[in-house]
Amino acid sequence: GYYDGQFRDINEKVIPIDERGHQFGDGVYEFIRVYKGTPLALSQHLDRLERSAKALLIELPFSRTDLEKIIEEGIQKSTLEEADIYMQVTRGISPRNHLFPDTKAELSMTIRHPRQMPDEAYEKGISTLLLEDERWANCYIKSLNLLPNILAKQAAASKGCKEAILVKDGYITEGSSSNVFVIKDQILYTTPATKQILCGITRTNVLACAKEEGIQVREQHMTIDFIKQADEAFVTSTSIGILPIARIDEQHLSSTRPIIDKLTNAYQIFREQQVHIQS
Ligand code: PLP
Repeated sequence: GYYDGQFRDINEKVIPIDERGHQFGDGVYEFIRVYKGTPLALSQHLDRLERSAKALLIELPFSRTDLEKIIEEGIQKSTLEEADIYMQVTRGISPRNHLFPDTKAELSMTIRHPRQMPDEAYEKGISTLLLEDERWANCYIKSLNLLPNILAKQAAASKGCKEAILVKDGYITEGSSSNVFVIKDQILYTTPATKQILCGITRTNVLACAKEEGIQVREQHMTIDFIKQADEAFVTSTSIGILPIARIDEQHLSSTRPIIDKLTNAYQIFREQQVHIQS
């Protein structure tokens, strides 16, 4: 763990009462996966962290180079080859007041063994539940405010589903912690990266893989009927990669997934190349 400029035991209790992340959710975060000791797509994640912080008028407490150094040192100290990195930047520590304080932003980070979906989930696909998207207008910011996301995920779990697919005004936005893709008549569809969704790093890289593979891509709004009639559908995120959907509400999808199989292979190769280049 890392807080207040120091590496610490992950179980150490370090967050002061007046930390704004804790009191207001006043901060931003990133989640990065480490493969073979190398954080995948690090520059894309740090670019997004900068964009998120800027959108909330938070000044990052470290330069890009220093952030990279802290992450590198953290990975070395953890001695993990495969890991999940969670990092967040809050507006800092100051007696509770809605107005911005003058204090410096605060970085915290944890590095742990990766949490992984069982192989079975990738083979069989997951069940998903459609739920109303109750979030705010600026979901492109990776902010700490995740209440609607956790409530949706928990509601899905209580019905035996692994992910909630959020619907706003009749159109799919994204998953509670993932982006959503549909394949129909050989074309790959996903929700356009507007302010209504978090533009996933995995989403971006999977779209690039699809184009390389000669798959036609359309960033287009999708209705509930459209996703239920999909030939194939999947969700993506840093932690799950490409995860096939087997069921949406009561609607079962085909268990043969030629395009998902092709994309999964392409994305695996992309990942290995990236890790090789970055290391
Ligand atoms: N959408 C939401 C709401 C998320 O929380 C996440 C990741 O946690 C994603 C999409 C996927 O983003 P990424 O591929 O960058 O992990």
